Amino acid sequence: MCIFSGKRLKAGLFSILLSLAATANSETLHEVKVGLHVGGVVSNGAALAAVDTMNSLLKMTGHVECKDIRFVLERQPEPFSDGLPRAITSAADFSAFRQSPYSINVVSQVLYCGGHQVAAGASFGGCTTVGAKPVIVTPSGSAGTRALKWLHELGHSQGLRDRCKDRKNSCRDDIGWIMAGILHPDNRKLSIEECFAYAGAQNFPVLEVTDFTSDGLDREFLEMEYIHGLPIAPILEASSEDLAMVREVVAERDAALLPNAVLVLGLIGDPTDQEALLGVLEGPSEDHGARIAKLNAVTALGYLLNRFDDPKTFGALRSFSNPNQNQRYFEGAGSFELAEEFARAMSRSALMGVGMANPKDEQLAQSTRGFIDDQEQAQLKGAFDLHIDESFFEELETTRKRVGDSGILGYLAQRPEETQ
Ligand SMILES: [Zn+2]
Repeated sequence: MCIFSGKRLKAGLFSILLSLAATANSETLHEVKVGLHVGGVVSNGAALAAVDTMNSLLKMTGHVECKDIRFVLERQPEPFSDGLPRAITSAADFSAFRQSPYSINVVSQVLYCGGHQVAAGASFGGCTTVGAKPVIVTPSGSAGTRALKWLHELGHSQGLRDRCKDRKNSCRDDIGWIMAGILHPDNRKLSIEECFAYAGAQNFPVLEVTDFTSDGLDREFLEMEYIHGLPIAPILEASSEDLAMVREVVAERDAALLPNAVLVLGLIGDPTDQEALLGVLEGPSEDHGARIAKLNAVTALGYLLNRFDDPKTFGALRSFSNPNQNQRYFEGAGSFELAEEFARAMSRSALMGVGMANPKDEQLAQSTRGFIDDQEQAQLKGAFDLHIDESFFEELETTRKRVGDSGILGYLAQRPEETQ
């Protein structure tokens, strides 16, 4: 089933009149169907607003080639039909969405994209096959960037690749373009060729994998939303002043900067930062950014575990393995179902965090191995279902090996290979 209906001639009286006026009006109508991991996570109003903004963005390009492309919300966003995972934790989850009846699939977490598990952070903002279905996104924190994210990911599915002149600079030179490899509220432009892609039929599927590097770690860096994962280079080059700034941001608890800040703290901080990361979990959970920050704080503990082999960090991570006990962190989520999904996501993040333990510390490696085995057995028996299966544990094993070989920073700095 195609995401988009193809180019079609507008039927009815109006088009007959237009034809008579010798301007055959051929319109590309993209029917957008939004599926949700939890009902209500994107409201009908929010989806309508996103689609409206997408249409204005196309009009504002000023290209006639974009003028007759229109998105319509085919029906109101609805919870996934049976069989679609609520989170992407493995290649199998990603594949399951190839049969999705939705053109936009909103999940709670994307822990696997393009052949890599947690390639550079707790969750990708989106993951799309270039030139094909599926389009998978996590619900954006701000209504302002939702339309840009959807249009960008739909652009990938129409065969477009990221614009990125300089990965060392996080693609910031390309800010202003909808297909810029960095999400920014100023992204507005499309080229004529890009308009053609939105107007055209699906291309041959090639899985898109991108990671970014940059050379400046500042507040602006932390505030950016990285659709395809956090850039690693500026983090590798962080100075002690950078670390002080990140600690300050985490202490301030600004929900706009917190999700990236906690991840960075796990990568450049030390065991004394464990307390601040656990403190983030006690904060409010009304805001989507705050909830993502909580998940990322757990991932950051995994980074610390890898870097310092502290059994206390392992103990902390283990304490998040039962989702029933994590629900209290998401009481402000607005619905029981959403709180439950985030509680599960937190357990998955904890499990991956444990997987990041350094296998060279034999005692710790043994404890973590035992814990993961127990979890796997428990999952297969259906204990507090985390919606993960054997393939998640297979991916986790691969990640463990890679992280063990190169350390967490080395692992994250590796450029994911293209697959498929
Ligand atoms: Zn992209």
